[in-house]
Amino acid sequence: MSTIVVHVEQVGGAPRRASLETLGAARAVCDTVVATICGDGAANAASGLGAHGANKVVVIEGAGTSPDALAKDLAAVVKEHGATAFLVGATSGGRDVAPRVAALLDSTLFSDCIALDKSGDALVVRRPWLAGKLLADMRTEGPVLCATLRRNTFQPGAGGGDAEIVHADANTDFLAVLKDVAAKAADKLDVSEAAVVVSGGRGLGEAENFKIVEDLAAAFGDAAVGASRAVVDMGWRPHGEQVGQTGKTVAPQLYIAIGISGAIQHLAGMKTSKVIVAINKDADAPIFKVADYGIVGDAFEIVPALTEAVKAVKAEA
Ligand SMILES: Cc1cc2nc3c(=O)[nH]c(=O)nc-3n(C[C@H](O)[C@H](O)[C@H](O)COP(=O)(O)OP(=O)(O)OC[C@H]3O[C@@H](n4cnc5c(N)ncnc54)[C@H](O)[C@@H]3O)c2cc1C
Repeated sequence: MSTIVVHVEQVGGAPRRASLETLGAARAVCDTVVATICGDGAANAASGLGAHGANKVVVIEGAGTSPDALAKDLAAVVKEHGATAFLVGATSGGRDVAPRVAALLDSTLFSDCIALDKSGDALVVRRPWLAGKLLADMRTEGPVLCATLRRNTFQPGAGGGDAEIVHADANTDFLAVLKDVAAKAADKLDVSEAAVVVSGGRGLGEAENFKIVEDLAAAFGDAAVGASRAVVDMGWRPHGEQVGQTGKTVAPQLYIAIGISGAIQHLAGMKTSKVIVAINKDADAPIFKVADYGIVGDAFEIVPALTEAVKAVKAEA
């Protein structure tokens, strides 16, 4: 019997999509999935996790304000259930807690994995290496595989039944306390969560010209605006929109790169997008090597026309 512990993050009683995807990934490769959940609204969110693939849910009462205390709670759940793996979505919270859990379990952390499979009895993860130049299949020699899973890469767990729900008290022995989380603007989708990302680069010439990127994103309705580091460094766009090695990693259904050359550090953050469209006036720009569809031409002619076409399709739908 193989057991995987998945830590589920929730906001206001709703599990995050990244967590449901992690449950789906775990469900596909093991017999028993034990989900952990904490924070205000955890009890509400717990009841729905069976449908997403959890066999058991441990609601950790009073946890969530200290990442090091939470890590102790999660490591204890892993040990108690004799789990062979601990998984969490590669969100900022997941990236905060996962290395702590791995350290407590005397294990290695595989971060930002894009595949999880079985090879015999062993679990194997696939993760990008060297800024995405290589993909490495890895497994642990230790007893517990600890990994964060890239968002928008796995299917959310579905078709499950009821899960057993148990409660545990949070650890009160901690060093750091999370005091506040600044809410992002309510009307802005985050690049790492959006199904469609429309990104702009230095080819747009100046900050004001990002209006054509914003208009295209608005035409889709469910799109976020992204940016290359060059434009973030120049102060045209906020760092929260930066895609790439030193920005956010995205894997949306559709990624549109406008006036972005396709430097390796940018590709590292978007190469696993499902469909990539590149608009660039230089036919030799490296971005075209990873693009599914490439449009060679001036962004200022193409993007407004594309925006009108998207609006027309949306109006018909
Ligand atoms: C350690 C390190 C980390 C980095 N991390 C990141 C990162 O996280 N994300 C990131 O993006 N970069 C990162 N970079 C920077 C990266 O190397 C590139 O410098 C950057 O991605 C270039 O941004 P760009 O494509 O917008 O600009 P450029 O490379 O200047 O490309 C502009 C493109 O626009 C095209 N263009 C110009 N005018 C038009 C027009 N009218 N219509 C259409 N196309 C036009 C040009 O042909 C060109 O291809 C990092 C670099 C280092 C060293």
